[in-house]
Amino acid sequence: MNLKKQVLSRLGHAEYRPLQEEAIDALCSGQDVLLAAPTGGGKSLAYQAAGLIQNGVAVIVSPLLSLMSQQVEELNKKGVRAKFLNSTLNPGEQDDLVSALRHNHIDLLYLSPEKLVQPSVMGFLHSFEISLFAIDEAHCISQWGSYFRPEYSQLGQLKVAFPTVPIIALTGTVDKNTINSIQESLQLESCLVLRSSFDRSNINIQIAQKRKAKQQILYFLHNEMPGESGIIYCRSRKKTEELAHWLNTLGLPSLSYHAAMTDSEKQVNHKLFSEQHGTIMVATTAYGMGIDIAHVRFVVHVDLPSSPEAYFQEVGRAGRDGKPAKSLLLYGLQDMLQAQQFIALQPSGAESDTQRLMDFFRILEGRGCRRKNILSHFDEDVLDCGFCDRCLGSKSESNMTIASQKLLSLIYHTKGVQPFSVLIQTLLGKRTKATNLIKAESLSLFGKGKELAEAQWKSIIRHLIAYEYITLGQSSLFTVHINEKARAVLKGDVQIIMSSERYYPILNEDQLLS
Ligand code: ADP
Repeated sequence: MNLKKQVLSRLGHAEYRPLQEEAIDALCSGQDVLLAAPTGGGKSLAYQAAGLIQNGVAVIVSPLLSLMSQQVEELNKKGVRAKFLNSTLNPGEQDDLVSALRHNHIDLLYLSPEKLVQPSVMGFLHSFEISLFAIDEAHCISQWGSYFRPEYSQLGQLKVAFPTVPIIALTGTVDKNTINSIQESLQLESCLVLRSSFDRSNINIQIAQKRKAKQQILYFLHNEMPGESGIIYCRSRKKTEELAHWLNTLGLPSLSYHAAMTDSEKQVNHKLFSEQHGTIMVATTAYGMGIDIAHVRFVVHVDLPSSPEAYFQEVGRAGRDGKPAKSLLLYGLQDMLQAQQFIALQPSGAESDTQRLMDFFRILEGRGCRRKNILSHFDEDVLDCGFCDRCLGSKSESNMTIASQKLLSLIYHTKGVQPFSVLIQTLLGKRTKATNLIKAESLSLFGKGKELAEAQWKSIIRHLIAYEYITLGQSSLFTVHINEKARAVLKGDVQIIMSSERYYPILNEDQLLS
């Protein structure tokens, strides 16, 4: 048996997956690699096997301490000489580790980016032979940028300090921009880029309009996923606790998880969720990286994720066992406005974050197959899936050009300073405090939009925001700018065609109990 095969069986598998093999061969010939595959795609095996095949120590940089200790533990069980360099080691343990590394008694060394970029650690790495560097979750370089984990952006120095050691960057869901930015920051411009498909064809995708979100969730849990385990993602910590509490009172066993909980609370809830089938985890995005639980049957988003990458990565936590699974995302105009506001308030990285959010809006508002729209963001061209809410339901569309023209002119005539709610009231001809205040009755468009309901006007606003006919003000989100693009709509040169709205059904608490 050759060495490559031996290593594979030592790691507990029978066959390499095609991309794993390509990555390993490239690393063993000294080439840098960027491996982009969805979570669960088996990326770790690529650097573990290459590290065991080559002489020297494979140094693995990973952002999550819990993930590293878990991997090291599993490798040790298989008899692989893996260690974890972290600040919890006492001086004696550190000396032992140093001596083991120098005497070639360790094959894989895990550490955090913060640890790696310490000058003393960088110096120390020069004192033994290194087979490769693996940078796990490399999308954090661009996603977290310099704000959350500044050390991630300093990893470029590896290529300078160790020009002959191959580097493999690993990442979950990415678009071309993220791949480019990883290559640039790690100085991997000429690396081999390996991408596997991001499609998770066993997961049904539903995206629908939000109304009475709690009752919509109840319908989903009761009618679509009774007794199953799943994750419900919310934006705020408080909401995770409230929703979990509410579900528990209805007899639906639920836990919560967010960053403000203590480590032990988090561990307990994670353990309960992973062991008890039929439990619902209501969580913020803090419940994420490294979660690999086979029996998660659904993922629900009650609030908007911040990007297509975040959304699809979270959706991908369902159906890890390959069996049918479901995802449901609920949103409305308010969610879009809040998401934009949230990003505008972030201290850094606003521009690329805004771009990602706009990409996401276009996926949400896009016509046709949901899966096709999402995958095209990841540069994958697929046929209609036949399995998402659009493919299974109605694909009807309406021409909303005239309504869009009314709305755009009203924004123009009110100088973009009126909130959307007031614009809608004006179009509907409602005499309210707000419309009286701006003397809306004197506007020629007052009451000229009665052919549509409030919800339809909101959907037009969503569409015009997503396709950047209008932009919310940079300094104040309460002002609206009409973009150059909108001129063509006003002149009738561009038609606004929209997919029909889909409202997800509701189930009231009393219906559940009766
Ligand atoms: P990723 O890092 O891409 O999220 P992991 O490396 O955690 O994925 O692997 C996901 C799962 O796939 C693990 O349970 C792992 O044991 C399994 N796996 C990886 N490679 C293979 C293989 N060649 N054959 C069978 N199972 C594999």
